[in-house]
Amino acid sequence: MLAKGSWRLVTDDHTLWTEVIKNKYARSRDGLEILTKAKGSSFAWRNFASVLDVVKKCYVFNISNGRRAKFWTDPWVLQVPLAELAITKIDADKLHSRVADYWDADQGWKVEEFESVMPSSIITKIRAVMVDPLAAEDDRPIWNLTSTGKFTASSACRSLVPQSSDQQTIWQKVWKLQVPERVRMFIWMTMKGKLTTNAIRKYRHLTHDDSCPECEGLPETHLHCLRDCEITKRVWRNVVPSESQSEFFNCNYETWVMSNVANDSQGNGRGNWASYFILVLWYI
Ligand SMILES: [Zn+2]
Repeated sequence: MLAKGSWRLVTDDHTLWTEVIKNKYARSRDGLEILTKAKGSSFAWRNFASVLDVVKKCYVFNISNGRRAKFWTDPWVLQVPLAELAITKIDADKLHSRVADYWDADQGWKVEEFESVMPSSIITKIRAVMVDPLAAEDDRPIWNLTSTGKFTASSACRSLVPQSSDQQTIWQKVWKLQVPERVRMFIWMTMKGKLTTNAIRKYRHLTHDDSCPECEGLPETHLHCLRDCEITKRVWRNVVPSESQSEFFNCNYETWVMSNVANDSQGNGRGNWASYFILVLWYI
């Protein structure tokens, strides 16, 4: 569920962390593709995959030797993959071709292989890219929401921040809280209702069963996962002052997240309530 993790899965093939994730969830070991193919059903994986949707929309490949980026299905000329800009459907067997497959070391671009399916304006843009087949360095994905090209979860979130001023104000508060960036990312997802619960999976026809795996029968909604499930309820009962519990457990999801995130009160020696609330939410 961590945006940074998703990004590393895209950019770094060799970290231990990546290996663990790949071995655990993925069937193919081939960069981004594993993320669309993998079908884990754990809560963590489902959310990880939905952050990935954000990540995937926000990078382009910087072409070097052309051996890593896929010509049709990775973004490298523009922010969208060429397959989406093609005038006709691309043959399935070509979808996995790399950029280098369309480059001749002596002649440059093999334009004849794609000119009949691409608009001429795009062909001009392709021609402006040079491939260096002898380069040792692979094509590199560049995060395009920051000036440095380095990934940050905050830029990922800001690109999708809700426009309503209430939410914006609350979001600014979240941003100032002293919590790790991955926690902020998680809060953003909860605020936007982006956690992939079984209720949402059922709505999307991904499952017939929307019930919580812990408490059979009850639908696994956001509110259920994060507040009302028997297990999470026990955690909250321990940390929410008893005089506030009735209010805490009796409001709808949006009000619940917003009011707690906006609550600056200091108390019980735990520092700022909002930070504390968010950290507990994260550990749940
Ligand atoms: Zn439950």
